[in-house]
Parts: sequence; structure tokens; C-alpha cells
Amino acid sequence: MKRTLQQIAGWLGNESRPGWENIHVTGASIDTRTLKEGDLFIPFKGEQADGHRFAGQAFEKGAAAMLWQEGVPGAPEDRPVLFVNDPELALQKMARSYRQELDAVFIGITGSNGKTSTKDLVAGVLSPYFNVRKTEGNFNNELGLPLTILSLEEDTQFAVLEMGMSGFGEISFLSELARPSYAVITNIGEAHLQDLGSREGIAKAKSEITDGLQPGGKLFFDGDEPLLTPHAQKLPAGTAVPFGRSPQCALQLEAVEASESGSRFRTSGLVNGEFEIPVLGAHQAKNALAAILIALEAGLSTEQIRTALRNVSLTGMRMQTVEGPSGSLFINDAYNAAPASVRAALDFVRSSAIRKEKWVVLGDMLELGSLEQSSHEELAGELDPSDFDGVCLFGPRMETLYRKLEGRFAEGRLVWSEADLSPISRTLSERLPHAPLILLKGSRGMALERILQQLHIQ
Ligand code: ATP
Ligand code: MG
Repeated sequence: MKRTLQQIAGWLGNESRPGWENIHVTGASIDTRTLKEGDLFIPFKGEQADGHRFAGQAFEKGAAAMLWQEGVPGAPEDRPVLFVNDPELALQKMARSYRQELDAVFIGITGSNGKTSTKDLVAGVLSPYFNVRKTEGNFNNELGLPLTILSLEEDTQFAVLEMGMSGFGEISFLSELARPSYAVITNIGEAHLQDLGSREGIAKAKSEITDGLQPGGKLFFDGDEPLLTPHAQKLPAGTAVPFGRSPQCALQLEAVEASESGSRFRTSGLVNGEFEIPVLGAHQAKNALAAILIALEAGLSTEQIRTALRNVSLTGMRMQTVEGPSGSLFINDAYNAAPASVRAALDFVRSSAIRKEKWVVLGDMLELGSLEQSSHEELAGELDPSDFDGVCLFGPRMETLYRKLEGRFAEGRLVWSEADLSPISRTLSERLPHAPLILLKGSRGMALERILQQLHIQ
């Protein structure tokens, strides 16, 4: 962003004090730890801390100016400050105004699982050919999205934005703010079931992504999820494009083959082609279909898409392969876990032909509300000793699963540890000479990637 304080004040229906009109603002920040020179500092009053107290620090770090909530005492007299009623609303208002001034094509991505992965795949397929910017990390909510928009440079051609939610109305809000030309729904899982009541509720909430769709825009959605069909049918003909494995999909995923460097897959329908991505798992190949569909809209040829997909880089800890000692191979999928993504990862390991020994390390799945116990127990049906050589379970919620699996696995092939990762690391360390394939999968709070550190691999 490159705007003067006067222009920003204009967005807010406000005026900058004389003398400060021409101050240049190049970005926005809500955190002095990551604030960059030229940023507009936006202080929030949180439960713990009041951002206004960090005004001095913000200016020391080079903030060009800051917002200040009316009524909060202590506004600096000698520093450029814009008074507002509510800094959060002001942030959103600024992002909305700046977005209207940008020519970029906006792409909004939501879904229960695979938002970040799909965002990386979409941005990755476009970036060799266009100026592409994307959400950094997981900045996908009512603060992260406007901050991302305000960080976009004027020459951006495609802005690929992740949209997350925990309740009704949130995706609608983000979509109205970003006004995407293309929207993607990756899948419908079980996350946030406690807030939304049912999987139907989740499908409805995700479908809000079309609320801000530009005229002539398109929705690309998981065509294997029947709950999305009624929402897709509400859109004008030709606007909702299903992708997936089912025959009615406009772009269909055919055979997916795993190699150690990623996945190779064929598509049929809109494109008959063969593609490769440097990431494992049929679910990631399916996410790549969304990237192919958007690349087609952008006018890329199949060959251009193929070249770009082969070289995309994904945010870490999503089905990331990590080589260990003695030919062992880890699949680090420890970024997060919910029932749908655990099943997807287990499916991958089960069907993978790339190792003799297969081990899985599963950490607690958090935030499942009333489904917590049943979701953990139901994994017993997924863990057959004929598919997996060993299972390590980590966390208090895994105890019930452990009890169900007890007796099924041979001595030393089933480990549960409630709070200490080291027994699991020790077990794995003993198996490493057998060159196993080891999946690490658990919720963020379980931080299973620590196993790689304990084994001196990363
Ligand atoms: P968050 O809600 O935490 O932002 P996200 O939707 O951005 O998550 P990713 O970070 O891309 O999702 O992936 C989270 C997990 O889901 C990873 O383990 C990934 O391998 C798995 N995953 C990715 N795509 C799918 C999919 N289409 N279906 C099921 N699981 C998936
Ligand atoms: Mg994400």
C-alpha cells in the first residue's frame, strides 16, 4: 500500500490534522513486534493488553502514524494520530476502501480442511506468470484478511486469500470485504461442529463465500460433498463448478500415484492431463484441481499449469516429507488435525507403496466439543495392524483409542503417552534402522514436530 494519511483519513470519513496530510503510509500493523517502518499502527484493546500502551514502541519502530480510539486517554500530541470510534471497524473500513482501488483479481478460499494448502497451490500455479500475493501463514479472519488486503501492492494481479470462520456470518463478511472473482470451497469436515450444529450448518456457513462474489465470478467447490449441491444450485447457471472424484465433477481427479517427492495424478473433464505436485496425499491432488481450474480462468495453458504445479512450495507441516536417518521417511502433517484430515492422511499411508514398515503417530484432536470422545474412538476402525506396523498415540484424549486398540498390535507396536513425547521418540528411534515411513499427525497444540527435534532430524 502507498497512501497518504489524508487519503486514509478520507477512507475513514475523517480528517488528518494540518501538517500531517502528506505523511506516507505503506502498510498496517496491529502488533509492534512485527510492525514495519511506514506502517499505520492500529491499537486494539484486548482482554490482556491495550494496544494504545504500545504507541511509543510503535513510533520508535518507525510507524508512520497510528489510529487512536476516541476516549482513550494519553494520545500523543506531537505524533501523527487519527482518532476513530473503533479501531477494528476502522481497519475493516480501510481494507474495504483500498480493495475498491485495486485492479487485482481476488480469489477467496474456504473449507474445513485444506485452505492454506489450496491457497499455496493456487498462488503457486499463477505466480510464475503473474504478480501474485497471498495470505501469509494463517491470516484468515476478520483482522488477518483486512491486514492482508492492506499489505497488497498496487501492481498485484491476483490476490489469493484464505478465509476461515468459527460461526455463521463470518465468511459472508470476509467475502463482502474481499469481493472475490473466484471462490473455492475445499471440503466440508467436522471442525466447528459445536458452533454450527451439523455438517449441513458447516456447508451453509462455507457457502457464504459467494455472498461477495463479483458479477460473472465463479465458485469452485468440492463436488464429492452432496451437502454443497443445494448451495451451488442457487447460483446462476455455469457459475458453480464442482471438482473431485465423482463423475458429475467438471474437473475430475483420476488415478493418483505417490512418489517420494510428491504425487502424480491424471485429470479428465475440462482438462485431460497429467500433473505432478511436490506434496503427498490424494487430498492434496484434489486441492490442486482448484488451482488448475483457476489457472484455466487466468488463461494459462495445460503445459504452463503443469510446469508451475511441479514447482509449487507449500507452507510447512502439511503432508511435508522429511528424510530421516537410515532411509527412514517422515511425513510431517503435524500442523493440525481433525477427523477428516486424519482419515485423509491415514488413507495416504495405508495405500502408499513407498515403504515396508509403516508407523503412525497420532496426537489429540482438539476443539471437537461434544464429538471429542467419539471422534477419537472411531479412529480404531481406521487402524488395522494389517495396514500399519505400529501406532503411537499422544495426549490424554487418545487414551480411549488406546484402550480400543490394546491387544490388536504386537508387543511394542502400540504406545500411548499422555503428556511426555519421549517414550514415543524412543520407540521410533529404535525403528529407524528399518527405514520406516512415519506419519506425524495431531492438533497444533500437540506440536508433534518436536519428535523430529528429539530425534535430531530437524
Ligand atoms: P486451518 O483451519 O488450520 O487454517 P486449513 O484449512 O488451512 O487449516 P491446511 O493447513 O491446508 O488446512 O491443512 C490442514 C490439514 O488438512 C493438513 O493435515 C492437510 O494435509 C489436510 N488437508 C488438506 N487438504 C485436505 C482436504 N481436501 N481434505 C482433507 N484433509 C485435507
Ligand atoms: Mg489455514
